[in-house]
Amino acid sequence: ALTIGIVGLPNVGKSTLFNALTRAQVLAANYPFATIEPNVGVVPLPDERLVKLAEIFSSERILPATVSFVDIAGIVRGASEGEGLGNKFLANIREADAICQVTRAFADPDVVHVDGKVSPKDDIETINTELILADLQTLEKTLVRLEKEVKIKKGDPTLLEAAKLAQKILEEGTTLSAGAKVAGLDLTEVASLQLMTAKPFIYVFNTDDEGLANKEFQAEIRDMVAPAQAIFLDAKFESELVELEPDEAAEMLAETGQDEAGLDQLARVGFDTLGLQTYLTAGPKEARAWTIRKGWTAPQAAGVIHTDFERGFIKAEVISFDDLVDTGSVANARAAGKARMEGKDYVMQDGDVVEFRFNV
Ligand code: GDP
Repeated sequence: ALTIGIVGLPNVGKSTLFNALTRAQVLAANYPFATIEPNVGVVPLPDERLVKLAEIFSSERILPATVSFVDIAGIVRGASEGEGLGNKFLANIREADAICQVTRAFADPDVVHVDGKVSPKDDIETINTELILADLQTLEKTLVRLEKEVKIKKGDPTLLEAAKLAQKILEEGTTLSAGAKVAGLDLTEVASLQLMTAKPFIYVFNTDDEGLANKEFQAEIRDMVAPAQAIFLDAKFESELVELEPDEAAEMLAETGQDEAGLDQLARVGFDTLGLQTYLTAGPKEARAWTIRKGWTAPQAAGVIHTDFERGFIKAEVISFDDLVDTGSVANARAAGKARMEGKDYVMQDGDVVEFRFNV
């Protein structure tokens, strides 16, 4: 499964957030395929549609899609100099498919900030500088090798050019995921180089009531990190919220004027940032969301349920969720001409409720 690595300076609330994620974790019994590891939090992707499907189909249980977060400790200012970013840190972050940067935006005088003042902007710069410097070190070595290989006609000139462009972006102090588009760099061309800042980023601002209410502050920050997405949450509050029964939690949330729990936002944004989407299946046993990559075709989507489904794919009967709810049942949807038979070239859409036809 694709994972999101959580990084951030010490004392910003990473452990608090990660503990909340672990407590929100899905039950291993329902997800035998998900390996439960101490530094991984596998949380459900919130999806109200599944509740509705379970009603329509009288399903016994609901299985949402999941999002996996990995706790990656060990980044401090100056890490890329001297001892370098620890090998364990580098290995962990390279394995992650997206990076979630946690930044402190709460003003508690009892909690010491490592740099003496609370400034999300400075924190982001500190961390991104470390990641950029580490990528530049990687690139320097790679470029020497690539130049040699290309000279003796053994290397890939396109890769060399892309690597040089990546170096230029990084030297300007920009992460690759933020700077590639403007500079005309196709990130897939440097995918083999394992550069950390080429991964998509999400920024979490661990804030307090004041920060949650301050839309001006949020807009400013969103601007600063765009095109990456920003999430504002109170890690301490979130860790209390996950301890409550769903009804109580909803009430608490409403009292603070938030529409959605921060962890739910994080799961949603994380899932989207990873380039993932879901499709839905439902029956008397379960209403379920299946994870696919954006742009996948019907046979590829069928393969997530079982490889035989992909190999023997004939057709997919697709009803869009809204049509199913409007008509009230599969039979009604069929009668109303809302059930589509899609072939092997069909690209899956968000909200597709699917039944696959296949040969075994
Ligand atoms: P880490 O070093 O980044 O893992 O940070 P921790 O999660 O250990 O948090 C550092 C300190 O800040 C702890 O004393 C937490 O209780 C406190 N803390 C974490 N999140 C918040 C928050 O949202 N508000 C306040 N006031 N304190 C927090």
